[in-house]
Amino acid sequence: MSIPPAPMAAALAAQGIRWVAITWVNHAGAPLVKVVPLAGFEAAVAVGVGFSPVADAFGADGGIDAAHRLARPDGDLRLRADAAALAPLEPAGGWAWAPGERFERSGVPYANDQRHLCRRQMVQLQRAGVELRAGFELEWLVASPAADGTPEPAIPGGPYGADRLVEGLDYATALLDALEAAGLPWLQFHPEYGASQFELSLAPGTALEAADRLVHTRLLIQRLTRRFGWRCSFSPKPSLERVGNGGHLHLSVRRDGVPLLEGGDGEGGLGPAGAGVLAALLADLPALLALACPLAVSYRRLAPGSWSAPFQVWGVENREAALRLVPAAADGAPAHLELKVADLAANPYLLLGAVQAVVADGLAQARPLPLPPSVAGDPAGLPSGTVPRLPASLAEASTAFA
Ligand code: GLU
Ligand code: MG
Repeated sequence: MSIPPAPMAAALAAQGIRWVAITWVNHAGAPLVKVVPLAGFEAAVAVGVGFSPVADAFGADGGIDAAHRLARPDGDLRLRADAAALAPLEPAGGWAWAPGERFERSGVPYANDQRHLCRRQMVQLQRAGVELRAGFELEWLVASPAADGTPEPAIPGGPYGADRLVEGLDYATALLDALEAAGLPWLQFHPEYGASQFELSLAPGTALEAADRLVHTRLLIQRLTRRFGWRCSFSPKPSLERVGNGGHLHLSVRRDGVPLLEGGDGEGGLGPAGAGVLAALLADLPALLALACPLAVSYRRLAPGSWSAPFQVWGVENREAALRLVPAAADGAPAHLELKVADLAANPYLLLGAVQAVVADGLAQARPLPLPPSVAGDPAGLPSGTVPRLPASLAEASTAFA
């Protein structure tokens, strides 16, 4: 006698879903996965699937760091799928995707879980009446490996070029189709400055939605690029002579329904609360860099003059400022802030968890930190010592973080 399928599984089966890939992102920024059959999905939501804590001791190359405190053979966790965030991955092939969070066997949340941290910070902000909206921009290189393995640009055409769009139109069509089939809201797509580099801006959502969408979108782009026989690289610096890939993070903040980054008398339309948020983020940028730019190679990208914004300054519409304020204007668009230094090696849950903590701190100060004046133009052109450089290596960023 067969057991009748549970209602959720039945609804998914009706959509042709057969398997669910459940992901989480480890401290090295790698999305890790376990796949369950549809019949096991309800249990994966309620109880979870086994995952050794050692996976947070993986280095960026995927190997276990023997010196890490989690490099142990014992202990186990349960990765629970978040049913509310379940979405199609490749529906025609029967695949769905869900982000997961790890729990102890006792049923309490695992204290080191990155998505749980992001959720906790989100709930704390919400309790204080603060609504933070976030969205990532992804940049990536589409490459076909040459005989010696070096990545060669796969799609010809100029920077921002309509010629590149047309050269790669089948790729673009397949990508936008896949995003829409997966229910991923996006705002803009374009050929980027670097050879065979592309960019996609995802629509804003809550911090959890923004991080989930980034993970989901990267999987889609990777899958799709392989279908064309190419490789995609989200590396901050796919090779030293190529333009880097950013993972810029856009943010807006409201408190009690009032937008905080506009409507004030200060520079760029900031009021005291908005200025306090910027000042807190600016002060903590060197420490945040360890999460926003977490690989040694991240610091090869962070060179002046490459719009990767390696200076600890803010600016109004300044693309060389680590914090770029895009003010509200007569066109009616609301103000927002861009954390331009971030790259796609970042664990988006850790980065957004930390950013939310800093925003909460900036708003909680009875006397907020003073916001230094904004910087216009290229900070690299100012006399040396005028504006601070952000950490120039992972070691420096780690020290600031500690
Ligand atoms: N590719 C640049 C980066 O590494 C960003 C270019 C842009 O402003 O979009 O961040
Ligand atoms: Mg860009």
